[in-house]
Amino acid sequence: MGTTNLRFAVMNLKGQVVYKEIIPTPTTDRTLMNILDTRIHQIIADCASRGIIVVGIGIGAPGIVNRATGQLIYSPNMKYATSEIRTELMRSIDLPIEIHNITKCMALAEQNFDNDDGATDIFCISLGFGIGSALITHSELYEGANNGYTEMGHTLIKPNGPLCACGNHGCVEAVSSISAIIRDAKTAVDRGEETILKTQTPLTGKKVFDAAIAGDPVAIQVVSNALQYLGIAITNITNLLDPQRIVLLGGMTNSKDYLLEKIVPIVQENHFSVGDIPQIQVSKLGEDAGVIGAASLIMNHIFQSASVDPVDWQLTRPVMLAD
Ligand SMILES: [Zn+2]
Repeated sequence: MGTTNLRFAVMNLKGQVVYKEIIPTPTTDRTLMNILDTRIHQIIADCASRGIIVVGIGIGAPGIVNRATGQLIYSPNMKYATSEIRTELMRSIDLPIEIHNITKCMALAEQNFDNDDGATDIFCISLGFGIGSALITHSELYEGANNGYTEMGHTLIKPNGPLCACGNHGCVEAVSSISAIIRDAKTAVDRGEETILKTQTPLTGKKVFDAAIAGDPVAIQVVSNALQYLGIAITNITNLLDPQRIVLLGGMTNSKDYLLEKIVPIVQENHFSVGDIPQIQVSKLGEDAGVIGAASLIMNHIFQSASVDPVDWQLTRPVMLAD
């Protein structure tokens, strides 16, 4: 579940997406629940007709999720969503249903399916209209002590800075997200500054990045300002946690080269250790990271269950999911 789109997908045990559908996120609670319920039932039926048996439903949600109760506790960018998404779906779907924060799902996807060197400590940052983050430490998803948040996006980076969706001022999300970049670009246009962005309506994050890459001075200023704060925030994470790898995901990574070109030198310059900085890379999973991660919730649920032997599962049920 994203603030812009809902992505439905079916994943097999190899992490391959065998079915995918994207629809715009509705803006009311009842419509959202109706669409989730209807589409999930339809996809299960479609899969059954192709000989694919769905073994569970994983959901990634933009906000704070209590994984034990399945409640969406707080979602600053999707305030209308009911907190009882899993409970409502369980009324009509007789399968395991797991829900977790979408960036935490992406971190599971990175650990399971974008981790050739077997890294055990990975920090993931989702860069979109909001900024989410999640930590894999010692090969486990870090859940926190209380409400399970690891929100780099809501750490303070600019005292008395712009208002954030969370209600605080000066969070990383409020200065470095795509929303912040669009806001600052619009402000520059409204001030009458000379920029190609004047003709780029409606403004999008990609248009501002493209203008910066093309050399537009105003766009360069706006994007550089956002990425300066982001680079500092990532430096703080590396100095605090010493991860093996920082993985960037989300819409902003469409401008991968420009993004890394701006951020990596800031981390190199301010890195605490005398050693190398962690690998900083863009996810190879692309737009599928969220759905692969949500499906990973179910995969982990099945294989961590005491009643299922993974070896037995592979030997005796190879046709349960399509290749
Ligand atoms: Zn915030």
